Parts: sequence; structure tokens; C-alpha cells
Amino acid sequence: MNSGIPSLNIPAAPEGSGISEITPAEGLRAVLDNLDALVYVSDFETHELLYMNAYGRRIWGSIDGKKCWEVLQNNASPCDFCTNHLLIDSEGNPSPPHIWEFQNRLDNRWYQCRDQAIPWIDGRLVRLEIATDITDRKEMELALKEAHAKARAAALEDDLTGLHNRRAFFELGNQLLKQTRRNGSPLAIIMFDLDHFKKINDNHGHDAGDEVLRHVGRVLMSNVREADIAARIGGEEFAILLGDAHAAQASELAERLLGVMHETPVRYHDVRIRPTASFGISSLHPDEPNLENLMARADSAMYESKALGRGRVRVKP
Ligand code: GH3
Ligand code: MG
Ligand code: MG
Repeated sequence: MNSGIPSLNIPAAPEGSGISEITPAEGLRAVLDNLDALVYVSDFETHELLYMNAYGRRIWGSIDGKKCWEVLQNNASPCDFCTNHLLIDSEGNPSPPHIWEFQNRLDNRWYQCRDQAIPWIDGRLVRLEIATDITDRKEMELALKEAHAKARAAALEDDLTGLHNRRAFFELGNQLLKQTRRNGSPLAIIMFDLDHFKKINDNHGHDAGDEVLRHVGRVLMSNVREADIAARIGGEEFAILLGDAHAAQASELAERLLGVMHETPVRYHDVRIRPTASFGISSLHPDEPNLENLMARADSAMYESKALGRGRVRVKP
């Protein structure tokens, strides 16, 4: 095995210390082979492994005449994430150590790697890597991140319908508004409020009302494009933001939703409930100051629908 330890200039142990028979190379080998970290050295040009400590050999096997990417990654060519180019500056001198984290493909464990160009025994610059296993910390970090993402998703979802809630509507809506302004594309909004919903609760009970709200949620989910933002923004009030759409397209969708609600009654025990809703549509003006302003126009169109007898669509462009 080609595991030559560089003959570093280590002073001999003092006379009578009892360790004078141990050569510096042996001492250094003992230290490196007992380190709880991978240490290896490879050639910058050929990628040949010049040294690997016992920790590395135990996990990745012998290095005889092999290249770093064969032994450490079982690759057929140099790794696409190789850091060699970061270790030497434009004048050919060693750069400061490069520290990074990565998951090894062979043992699937996470390592913090400290890579550095160092002068080898024969004077050429070579790559030194010291890699410490950080899997436990990394797994905890990843689990925490996942938990955060889940908690955040839960905080933005309407429990009853699974649609976005009011908070999510404003967060996502403002993002879409920014994007729309940047692209100069159109944006339309649909707002609707279920008609005489109080009567549904009064006649069939609160649970029946909840089932109607769930049903409306399902109707929205199956009729709205993935990129649109559909939300329950109040008790029996919904809003849909349609990116890249004009008021006419929003109006078409609103008519379709009204039709689906009419054609598919909600079953609650032995009753069938046919909810209707009053719709208001508007579209973004070039000088629209904010989302609330756009919503206010759609809201006033919705109240016109109510005033005109409910179960209809009104547009205020
Ligand atoms: P309009 O056609 O004018 O909108 O009449 P409406 O009865 O729908 O309007 P109103 O605002 O008088 O009543 C809304 C009702 O919606 C009152 C409230 O109890 C009910 N509601 C709000 N949130 C929920 C909910 O989550 N579940 C149920 N079952 N009912 C709800
Ligand atoms: Mg209402
Ligand atoms: Mg209502």
C-alpha cells in the first residue's frame, strides 16, 4: 500500500523520556490512524490517492494505485463536485482551506470536509482533506427543517377545506402580484360568498354547513389551475387569484363554478343541499396600489350580485 507519511521535521523526544525509540513517522502514523476523522491526500492532476488514514481505509478500503473518485465515491470519472479548483489561487499558491458539508454516496453519511493544498514530500502541491462525520447533527438539522416546513404549511392551510387560509392568500397573493408587475402580465380575481348560508346552518345544523364548505373546497380544488391561489378568506367567503388571466377568463371560471355547485348537490345524511354563491370579478389595473385595492373592487362587484338577487356573477373590470 502506498501510504507514505511525509517526513515532517518533528523534533526527537527528549533523552530519558522513554519514547526516544519511537520515530516521528511512527508517532505521526499512530496519531493519524487513531483520529476519529478521514484524512487523505491526493494528486491534483492525476487524482491518485497518495495517503489515507486507517479511518478511511476501514470505510472505503485500500487505496493502492487508485484515484480518489474510485475509492471514495465509486465514480468512473472525477466527481462533479470536486473542490480542487478552489484550493489553488490564480498564481498557483495554496488558497485558504475550503470547508464544506456533503453526503458521501457510498456510506450515505454526512461529512464536514476541510480541503487544503499542501506541499508534498517531493515539493509538489497536493490535496489534503480532513473529513469529520456530522451525520447525527445533520439529521437533526434536516428533521428540524422538515418540522418547520410542516408547521408552516399547517399554519397556512384552512383546516376545514384544505384550501389556503386568509393569511396564505395574502402572502402568496402579494408574491404573485409582484411577479405579475415584473412580467407585465394580467391578473384577475374572483371573490364569492355563499348565499343565505345562515339558513343552511339553521335548517340542517352547523355540521351540514361545514359539509357544504368542504364541498365548495373540493369544487375549487378540481376546477382551479395549480398556479392559481384559491383560499377560504372568511367564514363562507372565498377568493381566487388567477395569474396570467383577464376578467373575461375569471368570469368564465366563476360561471363554471356556479354551474358545478348547482349540478352537484351536497349530500348530508338524507338531505341534499344545493348551495349558490354571489360572485364578484375584477382585474389588475396598471396603477393598482396593492392587493387590497383589487379585492375591494371585486368585493363591491360581489355585493352587486347579492343586491341583484344572488347566485350570479358581476364584473367590475
Ligand atoms: P348572504 O347571502 O347575504 O351572504 O347571507 P348569509 O346567511 O350567507 O350571510 P350571513 O353573513 O348573515 O351569515 C353567514 C353565516 O355563516 C353565519 C355564520 O354562522 C356562518 N358560518 C361562518 N363560518 C362558518 C363555518 O365555518 N361553518 C359553518 N357551518 N357556518 C359558518
Ligand atoms: Mg359572508
Ligand atoms: Mg353569505
